[in-house]
Amino acid sequence: MFPNIPFDRVNWFTSGFLVITFFTAVIGTPIYFVSFGFDPVILGIFATMFAASGMSITLGYHRLFAHKAFKAKKPVKIFTLLFGAAAFEDSALDWASDHRNHHKHVDGDEDPYDISKGFFWAHMGWIFFKLYPRELNNVNDLKKDSLVMWQHKHHRLIGMLVGIALPTLIGALHNGWVGALGGFLVGGIARLVAVQHSTFLINSLCHTMGKRPYDSGTSARDHWFMAIFTFGEGYHNYHHSFQHDYRNGVKPWQLDPTKWTIWTLEKLGLVSHLRRVSDEKIVLAELREIKSQTEAQIVDNQGWKLITCSTRQEAYEKLVEISHQLTEGYHELEKAAADRIKMSRENLTYWRDQTTRAAEQITMMRHLQATSVA
Ligand SMILES: [Zn+2]
Ligand SMILES: [Zn+2]
Repeated sequence: MFPNIPFDRVNWFTSGFLVITFFTAVIGTPIYFVSFGFDPVILGIFATMFAASGMSITLGYHRLFAHKAFKAKKPVKIFTLLFGAAAFEDSALDWASDHRNHHKHVDGDEDPYDISKGFFWAHMGWIFFKLYPRELNNVNDLKKDSLVMWQHKHHRLIGMLVGIALPTLIGALHNGWVGALGGFLVGGIARLVAVQHSTFLINSLCHTMGKRPYDSGTSARDHWFMAIFTFGEGYHNYHHSFQHDYRNGVKPWQLDPTKWTIWTLEKLGLVSHLRRVSDEKIVLAELREIKSQTEAQIVDNQGWKLITCSTRQEAYEKLVEISHQLTEGYHELEKAAADRIKMSRENLTYWRDQTTRAAEQITMMRHLQATSVA
């Protein structure tokens, strides 16, 4: 019936868990609220557990353990390992190993959630198949951490206790067996499904929808919409360009609650050594990307028959002029980044403005091309 599916490689335990929890959440939650009425406390358990386990994945599993974007004291490690297990996304060690492979081989065959194999594969299809035994030869640093290894051994039991038993108990204390059922169903099952799919969306939608302002050589994309569900991980093009930066939403207006939490924890003395890419390097990446787009557009226009009327000629000449300026800026920024020289705010703003100007000019040229074809 499904000749292309290698059934001998299917991981039935994980697949069963993913399917059963998904349908229990989607069908069970509305039935619960219709049968027992809307209870804000149950919703509060869901929200708190969602934030605790979701943030343990983004702040803990991802930025702390997989990328070492900062150093953390024991309370932060213990919290993120306990509540990370409650998301049922394997141990931090397994997760970090898969994720490091994703960054190293992005869009290639060895990328565990390679988007070129399709949206569903990148989203969750890859988890339906056997991943064991993982080689785990890219997480030797984490193997030295006794807390990480303790969680690696017991993550399923911890997940059951923290992710399922805890919300059930809180629900029971609030409202007897009805509360316990709500805690189990909404705070436990529906919450873990919500957290899992938020994580999955980073691997699927964040490699499909959005812009690539830093590097169009990878499928990773930036989109503000995704940042809402993923505690700030929606700025994925930036993240793939600068994976060790503790920030994903690097611009002041970008939504990144994980970054804000790390920053706050630093003020409280619970984390330290936050890694930041310099502004010069960030602007250089943006400039390099727009410069190559500008050059491609110029090549595309050379010999193009549209350079026949004055508006088009003017637009083309402006693009060439911008291209020369970008080359100049590129060398200046490259030197500043290499020599670790801090540029003035005005200078950085100037080059940022130039990239915006170039982007606008490219859009205009494309529009002229399209109307010319039409
Ligand atoms: Zn990615
Ligand atoms: Zn990453």
